[in-house]
Amino acid sequence: MEYILETHNLEKKYGRFKVLSNLNMHIPKGSIYGLIGKNGAGKTTLIRIVCGLQKPTLGTYTLYGISNESRKIINARKRIGAIIESPSICLDMTAEDNLKEQYKVIGIPNFDNLHEILKLVRLDDTGKKTAKHFSLGMKQRLAIAIALVGNPDLLILDEPINGLDPEGIIEIRELILKLNKEKGITFLISSHYLDELSKIATCYGFIDKCRIVKEISSEELEQNFRKKTQINVNNVKECVKYLEENKIQYKVISDEIIDIYDKINISDFVIALSKRDCIVNNMQEKDESLENYYLNLIGGADNV
Ligand code: ADP
Repeated sequence: MEYILETHNLEKKYGRFKVLSNLNMHIPKGSIYGLIGKNGAGKTTLIRIVCGLQKPTLGTYTLYGISNESRKIINARKRIGAIIESPSICLDMTAEDNLKEQYKVIGIPNFDNLHEILKLVRLDDTGKKTAKHFSLGMKQRLAIAIALVGNPDLLILDEPINGLDPEGIIEIRELILKLNKEKGITFLISSHYLDELSKIATCYGFIDKCRIVKEISSEELEQNFRKKTQINVNNVKECVKYLEENKIQYKVISDEIIDIYDKINISDFVIALSKRDCIVNNMQEKDESLENYYLNLIGGADNV
């Protein structure tokens, strides 16, 4: 597997306070890597280190195979675009002028691809409107446009959908997927919105107690998720007898509710139970979510 970013036993201390310790992370080329952890787990610190805004106390990392201890890391960092904490937008400027500023900042003498970038983020028709009149979603898309100047292969987005309305969230989701599929851009995304993250991420890293405690691909995660059918019945005892006799995997959840893990033919099942005076009041197909996986791994429901 080719990794765009690998960290090797990274450590970061603020004074005596250790935020990261022996942290090992691997971001596969072409992936959308979801970084998940509680508030204060160290996600932003890790991202700031990778972007060269902070130095690790110990440990190293490689970007495109280049060590952070090498001088060439400066060139490797030029291949990253990032939005960390608040996006750096000039509110009194138009979308186009904001982008032009970024071209100047990173020292690109012409404005090649400027209109292509504006089109990609669907801000090509905003004309003379200044960014202060943009919706939050538009501002976020402008921030992504700014991060795209210089053609990065890796985009790092720290909490990209915070504060966005549902429409804004969908726009950002579609933009990320488009950039990933059409431009081959790899993403590192930290987000609290696990349900949303699960719609786009191809792999995940879970950060807890200063370390990445688990890295898993979305396929592996899906295999770990147990699809289940949850049924509500008026006679749990009879239902359990039937499930046992037919060697169907199940778990009794309450006096009325049973989770069934094997695939069942619903009509046959309901008829068979009714012959045993057991009525199925309700039946729901359920997927164990990314959130459940996270809670099982890290424990505790606070501050997901
Ligand atoms: P996250 O992004 O996961 O919420 P952060 O990386 O922002 O976590 O913060 C991790 C921990 O480090 C927190 O306890 C935070 O208070 C602390 N921290 C972050 N930046 C600094 C700093 N510059 N000085 C001291 N402590 C800091």
